[in-house]
Amino acid sequence: MNDELRALYQEVIIDHGRHPRNFKKLDHPSYTQEGYNPLCGDRLTLYLRIADNKIIDASFEGQGCAISMAASSLMTERIKNMPVTEARQLFDAFQNLVTQPDPPKKIREYLGKLTVLGGVRDFPVRIKCATLPWHALNACLNNITKQIVSTE
Ligand code: ZN
Repeated sequence: MNDELRALYQEVIIDHGRHPRNFKKLDHPSYTQEGYNPLCGDRLTLYLRIADNKIIDASFEGQGCAISMAASSLMTERIKNMPVTEARQLFDAFQNLVTQPDPPKKIREYLGKLTVLGGVRDFPVRIKCATLPWHALNACLNNITKQIVSTE
């Protein structure tokens, strides 16, 4: 990655870390999931509103480092109006981004703006900060699936 791109990525993370989007409690959420990263002390609560198997609204509250705040901000921004099945794919793609040494171009293109967090793969402790909101999302998605299964 060239220096210019790295600086740009850094800027996006700092911006979202300082001014997180969707940082609020959601009224009447369909799902609420808490997340805690003991390595860094990041704590967050993720709120999702789901209708017709689609995430119609997403927000979060909490306290944590710039990486965890930026990751939550960017994630909630991206998953709004996304079908639940696609959010699952996005979770997998993000995991790939932050854990694989050289994620495929296809995955980077699919993730778009979320690739700014790819740099954490060089800092193992930071990976947990970046993936915290994603694990909260995944827990919600698993609950949704369970609910779908139980009604059959
Ligand atoms: Zn952190």
